[in-house]
Amino acid sequence: MAAPPNGRVLPPSFDINTFDKVMDAMATIVGSDNVSRDSFHGNLGGPGGELFYGDIWPMGDTTDHTPSGAIRPKSVDEVQEIVKVANRYKLPLWTVSRGKNLGYGASGAVVRGSVILDLHRMNKIIEVSEEHAYAIVEPGVSFFDLYNYIQAKGYRLWPSCPALGWGSVLGNTLERGFGYTPNGEHAEQQCGMEVMLGTGEVVRTGMGALPGSPMWPLFKGGYGPSIDGLFYQSNLGIVTKLGIHLTPAPASFALCELSVPSQDQLISMVRTLAHLERENVIQNHTSISNPFRRALADLTTCPDLVPRVLGPGLQSGGGCATNADMTALAKERGWGYWTGDFALYAASPAILDANWALVHERIAAAGISGACVKITFRADAAPNERLNASKLAVPSEYTAIPQYGVPGTQNASLMETRGGPNAKGNGHICFSPLFSTDGIEMQAWWDRAQQMAEDARFDVFADFHVYGRYVLAIALVVYRPHDEGERVKGLFERWLEDAEKHGVSEYRTHLDYMDRVRGQFNWPGGSGVGAEAGGGQERGKQDALGQVLRRLKGVLDPEGILGQGKSGIWTVPART
Ligand SMILES: Cc1cc2nc3c(=O)[nH]c(=O)nc-3n(C[C@H](O)[C@H](O)[C@H](O)COP(=O)(O)OP(=O)(O)OC[C@H]3O[C@@H](n4cnc5c(N)ncnc54)[C@H](O)[C@@H]3O)c2cc1C
Repeated sequence: MAAPPNGRVLPPSFDINTFDKVMDAMATIVGSDNVSRDSFHGNLGGPGGELFYGDIWPMGDTTDHTPSGAIRPKSVDEVQEIVKVANRYKLPLWTVSRGKNLGYGASGAVVRGSVILDLHRMNKIIEVSEEHAYAIVEPGVSFFDLYNYIQAKGYRLWPSCPALGWGSVLGNTLERGFGYTPNGEHAEQQCGMEVMLGTGEVVRTGMGALPGSPMWPLFKGGYGPSIDGLFYQSNLGIVTKLGIHLTPAPASFALCELSVPSQDQLISMVRTLAHLERENVIQNHTSISNPFRRALADLTTCPDLVPRVLGPGLQSGGGCATNADMTALAKERGWGYWTGDFALYAASPAILDANWALVHERIAAAGISGACVKITFRADAAPNERLNASKLAVPSEYTAIPQYGVPGTQNASLMETRGGPNAKGNGHICFSPLFSTDGIEMQAWWDRAQQMAEDARFDVFADFHVYGRYVLAIALVVYRPHDEGERVKGLFERWLEDAEKHGVSEYRTHLDYMDRVRGQFNWPGGSGVGAEAGGGQERGKQDALGQVLRRLKGVLDPEGILGQGKSGIWTVPART
């Protein structure tokens, strides 16, 4: 078999001649400018302007997710032609919408040598309804695109966006990503999809199956079984359109902050906030920070913090900020140990006043010693008007969490926290487990996770997202891939082992660990947690959900061309 030249990577079982022949066929569909025959170029620019495909922040050298190339179609018809060719040659594809899945593998694929099906050129906003507060978008539409479109039209809507606005509305939603407005649980807001299966068939879900129905983006259910969930974190199809609900612009809006002085008060804080969220008094989720994250958010207003946080000043732990450093910093600044950011949204100032009074009352009733709750910014529209998010004069220390839906890239600067303000090429990992809002397991986990990070000499940034019934906890560590990759991988694996031992799972994980996390979901049990490396395909007979998913994979993608290994789902028998 002929070897690929210049360090190029090929799909498994392909030689260079067959690969070139397939990519020639792809070029006749999308044009040669939209085909990359290696991973080195053609991607949308990464945080440092990187144009290559793959995981821009690898954890060590052990697992290689480098793709062999990429194809960038512009239309559903082109995607269909690509799928036909891929089926003919059994070419492994990996779909990305904008490929900004940073911290989880970016535009890499589980199987080295897969071809990236990069949908960023399919970037039409098909419809936005101001009246019904929804949008229908193609995969390449970014959070910036949707926001700018709504601003240009003057619609009274606040679309949700994550902490970085350059990702895809559709891609982020499929990953069960989140933003910070009342419609910030993106998967909950999704209504209607168009999907191409591995067979090349196109289906519309829900009411989209009723020809010409205006109900597609309005009613999630449709008639009979709903299949939308099959395409979340999935390799069963390529989603080509997606409906999503948006937040109507409020007439009154307030940014609020709850802080508590001591590390062990996280439980009471979470319980109180979750209760207010279940009651819908607080309509978005609360984002809770530890002092390290709080310091990063305050760098603009407290410039004296810059050398301490971005340099070695805060770092007495031989290269990291210890918990003792963070506790001392919080005390010195008069911050709480934990700071929770949430917002109030209302159709009138009187409603906001009433909700604020309830927030106060409930927090006082919880009796959390030293708790302090305040409004940090408030705006009220003129009678019969609505607030325009772009006109809010929010102080800069409160803009990092986009609770009013204005997308930005300010949070990308957190990558500078190791090595100073001019640090380039740093990456981060996120370990993202789920907990009940009773908070007990979560607090115990955090105490262990933080100690493990300190033992591995990494600063750890806590980012706890409190919803009415669950907490999505994120431990985020910034590292230098060139010399800290192996060490950060060691830390990640210690976190993973600890989570497995305690029956806790991440909501989303990095490409390296998709099989392993899938292995935890083995009810009614029997095959052992995470026992089979490269697993999924040979799992024991009692992994009920895995068996169903593999059966569906065989039906919806019989040649196994789509996203092998995504979320630990493989075609049986394994082809790699
Ligand atoms: C500093 C920082 C802050 C962040 N903050 C947040 C945050 O607040 N909230 C949050 O959710 N995330 C956050 N992230 C993580 C990530 O950047 C976003 O989730 C981002 O939106 C994901 O990238 P994307 O939208 O381009 O998705 P893509 O990379 O395009 O897609 C992600 C994955 O989804 C699947 N997929 C994509 N498109 C399709 C399709 N059309 N059909 C089938 N499957 C598909 C593929 O498996 C793909 O690998 C943050 C990252 C960083 C670095």
